[in-house]
Amino acid sequence: MRQDIQDLDRAGLEAWCARVGEAPYRATQILAWVHRKRAASFDAMSNLSRTLRARLATDFTLERTTPAFVAVSADGTRKLLFHLPAEHGLRAAAIESVLIPQTDRPDGARDRLTLCISSQAGCGMGCRFCATARMGLVRNLRPSEIVGQVGAGIAVAAPATVTNVVFMGMGEPLANYGPVKTALEILTAEWGYAISPRRITVSTVGLAPAVARLIAETGVNLAVSLSASTDVQRDRLMPVNRRYPLAVLLNACRELPLPRRKRITFEYVLLAGENDADADAHRLVRLLHGLRVKLNLIPFNPFPGAGFAPSPRARILRFQAILRAQGIGATIRESRGQDIQAACGQLAAARPAA
Ligand code: SAH
Repeated sequence: MRQDIQDLDRAGLEAWCARVGEAPYRATQILAWVHRKRAASFDAMSNLSRTLRARLATDFTLERTTPAFVAVSADGTRKLLFHLPAEHGLRAAAIESVLIPQTDRPDGARDRLTLCISSQAGCGMGCRFCATARMGLVRNLRPSEIVGQVGAGIAVAAPATVTNVVFMGMGEPLANYGPVKTALEILTAEWGYAISPRRITVSTVGLAPAVARLIAETGVNLAVSLSASTDVQRDRLMPVNRRYPLAVLLNACRELPLPRRKRITFEYVLLAGENDADADAHRLVRLLHGLRVKLNLIPFNPFPGAGFAPSPRARILRFQAILRAQGIGATIRESRGQDIQAACGQLAAARPAA
C-alpha cells in the first residue's frame, strides 16, 4: 500500500532515495516541495526528473488535511473539526484543533495567534476532569495528521500568521512519541514549516521517561500538567500518577538538561473543593522548590457529566496570590472558546462522521 509521504522524516526519505538510486540531497528537495511549498501533486515538483516524479507517485500519496467544519466563538476563537478517513489499516477518527487569538495580553506580550493541535484521537490517560478522556483512546495520529492540522490551521488563519503551536488538544503527545517527534522535525525544519522550536510547546500528563527524551531530542518548550499537590489527590484525579508519582515526575524535571534561560511550565486545573485550598498552594511552593518554573492556573471548563465545578474567581485569585508571594510566576489562563466547546479539556469531537 502507498504511504503518505508526509509520514516520513528526512532520514526515512533519504533511505527511500538510496533504495531507488537517487542522491540523498533529493530527499531535502522533495520535502521542501511537500512541506514548505505545499505542492499540490508530485507532478508539480518541477526541479525533479520525470522519472523521479513518477516513482514518487507510485510509492506515495500526498493528501492534504482539510477541516470538515470550522466553528467560530464569540471571542474569536475558532475550532477546526477534522474527519480522518480509515486508511493505512487505521480506524476512522475525528479530531479537533483550536485557533486562539490573544491580543492586549495583560503581561504586555505581543499579540499572538496560537494553534492548539491534537496528537491522538481521544486519549487513554483517564484524567477525571477532562472530556477527551471520556472518549478513551481511539487511535494514535500519524505524523501527516499532526502536521496536517498545522497546514490547515495556517490556511484558515490567513492572512493572519500563526505565531505559536501547542500540543494541548486531544491526546497525550508523549504516549505517541515517534509520530510526534517526526511531526516536530517537520514543523521546525527549514525544508518544512520552519517554526522555531521556541514557539512550540508540548504538554504532557508527565510520562517521566518520555519527558527526559523529549528534552534531550528536541528544543521545544515543555508543559507538565500537575493539577494536584499530593499523591493522594493526584492518584484520584490523574491515574497516570500511580505509574509516575509526584516525586518521580518532579525529580525527572529537576534532572532535565534545560537551557539556562528556559523554564518548565506547570499547568494546574483548579477544581472547586478538590485542589484549590490555600494548603494546596503552599504545598505547591514546596514541591516546585529548586525548579525554574512558570505556573499556569487553568480555571476548570465544565462539560456535561463532569462531576466537578470551577473554583470561584476569588479563590483563583487568592491561590495565585499565595504562589506569587512565594516568588512563583503564576498566571491565570483565561478560558477561551467555551461557547463552541473549544476550551481546555472540552475537546471531544462528539459528532461522529456522517
Ligand atoms: N495530555 C496532555 C495534553 C492535553 S493539554 C496534558 O494533559 O497535558 C490539555 C490541558 O488542559 C492539560 O493541562 C489539562 O490538564 C487541561 N484540562 C483538561 N481538562 C480540563 C478542563 N475540563 N478544564 C480545564 N483544563 C482542563
